[in-house]
Amino acid sequence: MSNCIFCKIINKEIPSTIVYEDDEVLAFNDINPQAPIHILIIPKKHISDMTEVTEEDIGLIGKIHLAAVKIAKQKGFAEKGFRLVNNCKADGGQIVFHLHYHLMAGKKLPVCT
Ligand code: 5GP
Ligand code: ZN
Repeated sequence: MSNCIFCKIINKEIPSTIVYEDDEVLAFNDINPQAPIHILIIPKKHISDMTEVTEEDIGLIGKIHLAAVKIAKQKGFAEKGFRLVNNCKADGGQIVFHLHYHLMAGKKLPVCT
């Protein structure tokens, strides 16, 4: 998607601090962190939001979860724990319409409402 900010990050047209990358998944630091560690994990395939995930994407979503655990172990917060969040569409608070998961850690996070 040519006008998608996260596709531009995938294509390295916009700089980011990458913390994990493989053929299908990219993870980079959030530009406006809401926790001491705040990483965005995205599929390289452009999927606009969670409602657009199909059966074909089941493996891809699993790889995103595995990437979260790999990052947590590599950065040393797997033991203490973390939060993995998807905001879906307007009521979910989604601003960027390329599927992404917020991986947050580094402090005791407030209880979700
Ligand atoms: P959403 O509200 O859509 O779930 O979250 C979008 C997230 O993307 C926000 O936390 C915001 O700070 C982050 N973000 C938006 N633009 C950029 C950018 O250009 N680079 C990075 N690294 N993060 C971004
Ligand atoms: Zn995109």
